Amino acid sequence: MAAILSIQQISKSYGPIQALKGVSFDVPEGSVFGVLGPNGSGKTTLLGILLDVLLADGGTYSWFGGIPPAAARKQIGALLETPNFYHYLSAYDNLAITAAIRQNGKDDRLRVLGLVGLLERKDSKFQEYSLGMKQRLAIGAALLGNPKVLVLDEPTNGLDPAGIAEIRQLIRELNKQGVTIIIASHLLDEIEKVCTHVAILKRGTLLLTGDVNEVLVSQDLVEVAAADLAGLKQALSTMPGITKMQETERLLQLTCVAGISTGQINEYCSSKGITLSHLVLRKKSLEAKFMELTS
Ligand code: ATP
Repeated sequence: MAAILSIQQISKSYGPIQALKGVSFDVPEGSVFGVLGPNGSGKTTLLGILLDVLLADGGTYSWFGGIPPAAARKQIGALLETPNFYHYLSAYDNLAITAAIRQNGKDDRLRVLGLVGLLERKDSKFQEYSLGMKQRLAIGAALLGNPKVLVLDEPTNGLDPAGIAEIRQLIRELNKQGVTIIIASHLLDEIEKVCTHVAILKRGTLLLTGDVNEVLVSQDLVEVAAADLAGLKQALSTMPGITKMQETERLLQLTCVAGISTGQINEYCSSKGITLSHLVLRKKSLEAKFMELTS
């Protein structure tokens, strides 16, 4: 996938606080890209810079292969903080105001309301909306004018599990329609369900970036068991590619390098005369990986 955004060595300080320390990564076109990190890791600062709201102290970034910033900006919809909608106006009328301020997208309102699942409620007053609907309307406002990229900062903040699931579904749907989505969040569990790629930040430093599957698969955990657990342990101690073995009461947990399959483990044990009674691949959750990296 080609990069829709390329970031090189971005740094930013607020007085003595170094919010970003030379952050570089690429966002592939068509991805759902999660910018992850604990509070204060620099996510909002980074998004602010990428959207020209803040000025970086150093480094560069380019959208869409380096087209002029004004042209690039037209292709980017953003939701950095919840917009101020008028409580007594309908969603449809609120979007007219947003479009007027942006000078873009007035004729796009019905399409956008359909996308975010609010077409039937377009004439309801904003104050009658649930929190989830309000957030979907905010995302709808960012989609006016049909941008190629959507940038969202903590889009599920304050929502209950049902509201979070709605936003997740919406992100998936938009992505299916070809929108690249960049989403900053500290809700790892949610991100894991929806993101194709991630960048993990800690105190302004990029710890890791890549395809979610590669990031997580790089350290799979495989559980194995056999009638003779001690014999199994002995046999596996000579298998190349197993970097760690942990014994629990009934089974062994193996940490393997990338590329070792459960089939290979099965074959190896078999070649040593051991029949496995249990063989399960457990992907490390993003949360476990994140805790390991940031703690
Ligand atoms: P959160 O998840 O809490 O929103 P974040 O990852 O988005 O955090 P930022 O808001 O970018 O992180 O903050 C990064 C660092 O910069 C923090 O130490 C924060 O206190 C500091 N910071 C952010 N904005 C300002 C500002 N306007 N003035 C001074 N310091 C700031």
